[in-house]
Amino acid sequence: MRETGRFAPSPTGPLHAGSLVAALASWLDVRARGPQARWLIRIEDADTERCLPGMGEHILRQLADCGLLPDEAPIWQTQRTERYEAALARLQALGLAYPCGCSRKDIDEALARLGRPHTRHGERVYPGTCRDGLHGKPARAWRFATEKFESAQPALASGELCWTDRRLGRQCQDVSREVGDFVLRRADGPWAYQLAVVVDDAEQGVTDVVRGEDLADNTARQILLQRALGLPTPSYLHTPLVRGADGDKLSKQNGAISIDTATPEAALAALDTAARVLGLRAATAASCAPALAGWVPEWRDLYNSRP
Ligand code: GLU
Repeated sequence: MRETGRFAPSPTGPLHAGSLVAALASWLDVRARGPQARWLIRIEDADTERCLPGMGEHILRQLADCGLLPDEAPIWQTQRTERYEAALARLQALGLAYPCGCSRKDIDEALARLGRPHTRHGERVYPGTCRDGLHGKPARAWRFATEKFESAQPALASGELCWTDRRLGRQCQDVSREVGDFVLRRADGPWAYQLAVVVDDAEQGVTDVVRGEDLADNTARQILLQRALGLPTPSYLHTPLVRGADGDKLSKQNGAISIDTATPEAALAALDTAARVLGLRAATAASCAPALAGWVPEWRDLYNSRP
């Protein structure tokens, strides 16, 4: 299969220093594999409520200013809903998706009754309330039957799903215990990231996922869905995060500001900052294209890409 990488931004805000790291890393990873490999961009606007109008186009312009141009026209998740419908229908047919009528409050109350009260920053592990029916409530979401799927997989008998990240090494997660039956689609329409990303990565032939480390703990859920849908599992590399002044992951809340790509010098400076986060040397070139080309062999050495 043709080696394929992708950058998959959500158009909830402009590209900031953290997202540029993921974009640059996924681009370098593809280029380090040689001219046959493809770098794709997917605008992840499936969660329509959080997306800002015009932001997808803005991000594409910022990437282009940095010389990060995709090998094919970008795709937009909002134009692909029939693929997600088909995947959900398949999971329903397999008995692996069920409707859930619980609100957040219902889930918190059920967890409290079980003596597992939800803490504000902790994961809200779904307690399985609607597994055996909606109990007269209207459906609010479709959930993946994690425990049911895991119990039918001999390899998951121990409960943990393990995978190897190209930077972080071996990672394990007990999805039923740590996450529970996760949402595939909300009843009011939006598709969950987990389902859309799995369907799209497979359909775009993505062989190598390179993205920010904040997303690493979604990977086990995505591998479960790939297995349930009979889709291949790509390789994964999660890149270091850029921290805000408060030490947290850079986000709009703690001052992630848009990168400045208004001039070629500014775009080069933004790329250079992202390259340092990845452990690459400072650019000696005077513009983006030669700087990018200069980092490709360095990336190959550092991250052990197949040439
Ligand atoms: N759309 C996700 C984000 O911007 C990234 C998804 C991915 O790379 O798998 O956080």
